[in-house]
Amino acid sequence: MVFQKALVAELQALGLKDASVDANGYVMATIPATTRKAVPAIGFIAHVDTSPEMPGAGVKPIVHTKYDGRDLVLPDDSTAILRLADTPALADQIGHDIVTASGTTLLGADDKAGVAEIVTAAERLMVHPEIAHGVVRIAFTPDEEIGRGANHFDVARFGCVCAYTLDGGSRGEIEFESFSADLMTLTFHGFNTHPGYARGRMINAIKIAADFIHRLPADRLSPETTDGHEGFVHPYVQQSGVDKTTVKLIVRDFDTAGLADKEKMVERLAQETVAGFPGSRVDIAVTEQYRNMRAVLDGRPEVVENAHEAIRRCGLKVVTKSIRGGTDGSRLSFMGLPTPNLFAGEHNFHSRLEWVSRQDMEMAVDVIVALCQVWEERSAVVR
Ligand SMILES: [Zn+2]
Repeated sequence: MVFQKALVAELQALGLKDASVDANGYVMATIPATTRKAVPAIGFIAHVDTSPEMPGAGVKPIVHTKYDGRDLVLPDDSTAILRLADTPALADQIGHDIVTASGTTLLGADDKAGVAEIVTAAERLMVHPEIAHGVVRIAFTPDEEIGRGANHFDVARFGCVCAYTLDGGSRGEIEFESFSADLMTLTFHGFNTHPGYARGRMINAIKIAADFIHRLPADRLSPETTDGHEGFVHPYVQQSGVDKTTVKLIVRDFDTAGLADKEKMVERLAQETVAGFPGSRVDIAVTEQYRNMRAVLDGRPEVVENAHEAIRRCGLKVVTKSIRGGTDGSRLSFMGLPTPNLFAGEHNFHSRLEWVSRQDMEMAVDVIVALCQVWEERSAVVR
């Protein structure tokens, strides 16, 4: 909450008088309209948390000015080197200022870059009332990285026709398609007994689970063998015991119907496995996690089209990408707030080699401001 309270104070100092943080840690604020046109309210969203998979405390940000293609060796760990050869996106950054951490922590640009860009855009809009725009709402959310950023998001209170998350990569990118996602929990039941007297009686659930894992396709349908538009099944956590072993798998596909095919395969492999261990059985539970937001956004083409126009006006090429994951926007879109994701300049997400370019961040601010103007221009004049 410390960060959220500091953000509220900063937004209030910029003149966003209603800036506040609620009990769940959601910051919301309003930039009042500067036009008399009937412009629908639009929102900009970024998340304040960082990935729990890497340390995010004690970050020492370093600005590498005028990047020229050199290796960026991070001082606190000499093996942490950002190289042009293994980071193609750096090729577009010659002459730019690159920000990294010091080699042992995240930078936290995911998604503090998005936060900074939205605050900077808010400042520009407040200082320049001659820029015509409708009501613009801002939200900063907690818990995105653990998939719960939308849980307590009050869409009605936010009161926007659509929103844009700023949580993406290279300049010009817009993402309006995410995975559809389910969670499968497989519980293999064995039979435990004293190992000294177990002959012919014990059924070891750990060995059943190992057999099942071994049956998963080795050369396809996994995170390590797919990219682009391919989905996968991915065992990511296991709780082991002789009597009972639970395996959790995430199932991902851009096509929601494709989830069912993958789940059928998992179920078949699990049943084939337990058939080889007489006396054992498996329980299978499937939980929906999120759905491809494209299903919602296809029905509201102006949301993405206005963003394309704003990106083009900033002199950038529109780059459409599919998110091999989910964002808060995937959930929010299905909660009634269509929310594609815009570039924020973030790279090497969730890594100690995380980096962001100052020039791309400035470009993201320009796009936010231009997007507010596009919505205004394309709205009807009220009599
Ligand atoms: Zn993020």
